[in-house]
Amino acid sequence: MDTTAHVDPPGDPERVRTLPRLPNGSRIPWGAATLTNGQRSLAEPDPAKAIACLRFGLCWMCGVQRGRHTARLLPPVAAHGQLVADPGYHVECAKYVAVTYPRPGLCLMWITKGDDQARLMSTPAGKRIHLGLTPYDLAVYHDGRLLDLEAAFPAEMLDNPPDDVEWRAALVIVTRHLRSQSARQHP
Ligand SMILES: [Zn+2]
Repeated sequence: MDTTAHVDPPGDPERVRTLPRLPNGSRIPWGAATLTNGQRSLAEPDPAKAIACLRFGLCWMCGVQRGRHTARLLPPVAAHGQLVADPGYHVECAKYVAVTYPRPGLCLMWITKGDDQARLMSTPAGKRIHLGLTPYDLAVYHDGRLLDLEAAFPAEMLDNPPDDVEWRAALVIVTRHLRSQSARQHP
C-alpha cells in the first residue's frame, strides 16, 4: 500500500499517565482482566468492567466517564451497521490503544456523539451497541499506524475495489463517511 498515507502517532495522552506500566513501558488498560497468577491480560477484558463501560459510559482504557464522544476500535467487517460489544473509549485513549497495542491489518476508530444509552440493546449474547451506518467521525489504522483516509482510499478505488475483504469493507465505510462529511460541510 501507499506509505505516504501513514500519519505519525500521538504521544501518551494525559488520561493514561496514572495507569501502571508493562515492562515494555506501555500502559495497562483499566479494563484488562486479572489472571489467576495476578498478571493482567491485555487480550482479555474484565467482564464486569466491560459491562460497566457499556452501562455507565466509562472508558475501557482509563476507567473515567467518556463524555459526549465515544470511540470504538473494530475490524471493518464487524463495524458496518452492526451490533458490537466494544466497551468504548475516550477518543484520545482509543488513539493510544490503536497505536500501542496494534491489531494486524485494518482497524477502524468509529466515533459516535451523544447518548450512548440510546444505542444500547439487549441481545441473547449480552449487551451490544448499535453503530448505525455512518459514524460522527472516523479514523482507520493499518498495522497500528493512522492512515490518511483520502490517500489510502482514493475515489478511483471504487472502480477497482481491493480483493481483501477487510479493505473492501473499509472502502465502503470510508466512502460513505467522506460523502456524509462533505454533505455536512457543503449542505
Ligand atoms: Zn479514557
